[in-house]
Amino acid sequence: MSLQRFDHTECVANAPVASERLYPFLPPNLKHPMTTSTTLANTIELIKTLVAFDTTSRESNLGLIEFVRDHLKGLGLATRLSYDAEKRKANLFATLGDQKTRGIVLCGHTDVVPVDGQAWDTDPFKAHIADGRIYGRGAVDMKGFIAASLAMLPAYMHSELKQPLHIGLTYDEEVGCIGVQTLIRDLAAANIHPAGCFVGEPTRMQVMTGHKGMRVTRCRVRGLEAHSSMVPEAVNAIEYAGRLIEKIRSMSVQLQTNGPFDPLFQTPHTTMQTGVIKGGTAPNIVAKDCEFIFDCRTLPQGNADELIKQVHEYAEVLKTEMRKISAQADIEFETISNSAPLSTDHEAPISYLGKALARNNLLGRVSFATDAGWLNHAGIPCVVIGPGDIAVAHKPNEFIEISQLEECLGFMDRLRERMTQEVLLA
Ligand SMILES: [Zn+2]
Repeated sequence: MSLQRFDHTECVANAPVASERLYPFLPPNLKHPMTTSTTLANTIELIKTLVAFDTTSRESNLGLIEFVRDHLKGLGLATRLSYDAEKRKANLFATLGDQKTRGIVLCGHTDVVPVDGQAWDTDPFKAHIADGRIYGRGAVDMKGFIAASLAMLPAYMHSELKQPLHIGLTYDEEVGCIGVQTLIRDLAAANIHPAGCFVGEPTRMQVMTGHKGMRVTRCRVRGLEAHSSMVPEAVNAIEYAGRLIEKIRSMSVQLQTNGPFDPLFQTPHTTMQTGVIKGGTAPNIVAKDCEFIFDCRTLPQGNADELIKQVHEYAEVLKTEMRKISAQADIEFETISNSAPLSTDHEAPISYLGKALARNNLLGRVSFATDAGWLNHAGIPCVVIGPGDIAVAHKPNEFIEISQLEECLGFMDRLRERMTQEVLLA
């Protein structure tokens, strides 16, 4: 089906608001009843609704999840929810078709980054439409893709699909791809094994087959406090932290010099850096405590465990030195988040399918981590493809172009059409 452009302002104004009115009665003889403009109007309405839920990662996402659950229930679809330990957040997984048959997933994260300290021209949690764009926190990252997936469902439901279609929504992606790991365990426990997955992070609808992994680690250094005139009897936590930070920096320089390299990445090697530090209380007190946070962004062929091990080994050397003065001195590490890298074979069926549906033969890599890393690691082949531009994500006045939503709906409609013809991924 070709995509026709239309006047969205008019369409939005005419769009029904209540979700039960989104899908008007359609004659049963129509095999593919949804027109493109109706689907786009529904997508825009859904974006408005989704953006209005403040799903900043520190908040609960249950409002949004329950809205989607009820919305899908209204369409006759059952959903699975998998919760975090506190039951404040949930993933949602829905299946159109037989759950036990291997299907294709459209996957997006529900959480968004904070707006704290950002100068927005409009209310970030009230979608604002102007100049062919929809502004709002999460519009591009990635409620636009989620809205498009949901808006397409009626069309999928009116088609005879040869394999199931799944919708997967996750929590806490922005703080380290945490929810998706729970989702993966839940699917395995339920014996659901999807055949492939499109993760709809913004790529301007170009297929991305890889990204780096990201490990974020907190390090706490405990020294021994003393008056700053008595330096030899104290253990300066800031200075030991500084030596560890220098070790991390020199490892990063080594990686930059010696590789390994992957020229498809903008920064073609693994990097390590310290992003946060705090320590000490006064200039005339030798610091007892210092804490810093560093990250490793590893190439798919890199090994974060090995890098962390080297940092730990150096910490052991320092600890021995510190404990000559104070037995209580210590250095501790804590993993804050761990996102697996993604490296999908360019020859893999999911890569071919993505290119065919995107009508674009280019394959690329993205510099940000996504849920696709863990999904792929769990045996669900993934590529990343979604509407809009990552360059406007996480910033004030984040937006998605309506033309990008149209492209995304075209992609999803071609997927629907192909799914009526054959089993695309086995
Ligand atoms: Zn995202």
